[in-house]
Amino acid sequence: MDALERAAAVIEGSPLVTLACHVTPDGDALGSMLAMHLLCRSQGKSSVASWPEPFVVAPHYTYLPGLHVVTKPNDFPEAPPVMVTFDCGSLDRLNELAEPAREAGELIVVDHHATNESYGSVNVLDADAAASAVMVYRLAQRLGWPLTRDVAICLYTGIVTDTGRFQYSNTSPDVLEIATELSRFGLPIADMSRQLFEEHRFAYMQLVAAVLQRAELDAERRFVATWITRNDLERFGVELDEAEGLIDLVRRTAEADVSCVLKESADGTKVSLRSVTDFDVAAVAMKFGGGGHRAAAGFTGPPPLPEVVEAIRAELPRV
Ligand code: 5GP
Ligand code: MN
Repeated sequence: MDALERAAAVIEGSPLVTLACHVTPDGDALGSMLAMHLLCRSQGKSSVASWPEPFVVAPHYTYLPGLHVVTKPNDFPEAPPVMVTFDCGSLDRLNELAEPAREAGELIVVDHHATNESYGSVNVLDADAAASAVMVYRLAQRLGWPLTRDVAICLYTGIVTDTGRFQYSNTSPDVLEIATELSRFGLPIADMSRQLFEEHRFAYMQLVAAVLQRAELDAERRFVATWITRNDLERFGVELDEAEGLIDLVRRTAEADVSCVLKESADGTKVSLRSVTDFDVAAVAMKFGGGGHRAAAGFTGPPPLPEVVEAIRAELPRV
């Protein structure tokens, strides 16, 4: 029996399924988890879905169906019979929900990160899958559970965000076929795109101007970096979640192969890394206790910012 089959059997056999995704969830983490949450509900199966504090979502994800039936991490069962994690490469990305994961009767890990630590009792892993949402789509098929429009909205969100709107090299025929299937549910594609990728408050636009102004380019290492301090957030009245897409702007720099955005947060310095060549930024992130994909990775490091930038720069070759 393969892992997908075992995961389906465990989910099918449990009257209660608990679901979690990684801290500061992105579109794929939320989309995958909420899709499974809504699928369980449509099958009359009890499910609980949560993610670690801060228990908020970025403004571009607020349209996701299922967000009104999520559970605070504080109210998550302490020792659930079955727990499923989505898009989460390691237990430490679950913060306070790592404890229920350790105590769970069965822990199913659904993920596509190459750096996944196989921390479950059932590990449904596929580093070639474009998104965790693709794996939830396959799981639903294996379970024989029909999709609904709301489930399709969630899965499409995971796919469109993790493929960068069908632009990255993970945009396979397989993922395009799944997106086609999902689009048959009459998805509000233009509205979702606008909210996910285009629309920002004016305050955020002004913060971007200041942050790009201070970006530093190391032409020798083909490395560009910039940062957001807590003072910036306060000055412009912007929340950290709103700035998730900033790295996508910084990595447009023609003179750089590797780009980096650092953000000061309550738990330390959150670092986003991107590579537009074969250079593997997941390997760099892993050296700092993080992980991710070859072209997109991250970690949380200690302050202060200049030292973190220097440490990353030192990992890059001169070209
Ligand atoms: P982002 O820069 O968008 O926050 O993250 C890019 C990729 O790196 C995502 O796939 C994300 O899951 C992964 N990632 C970001 N931060 C961490 C971290 O602290 N640990 C691990 N293992 N992966 C991370
Ligand atoms: Mn993902």
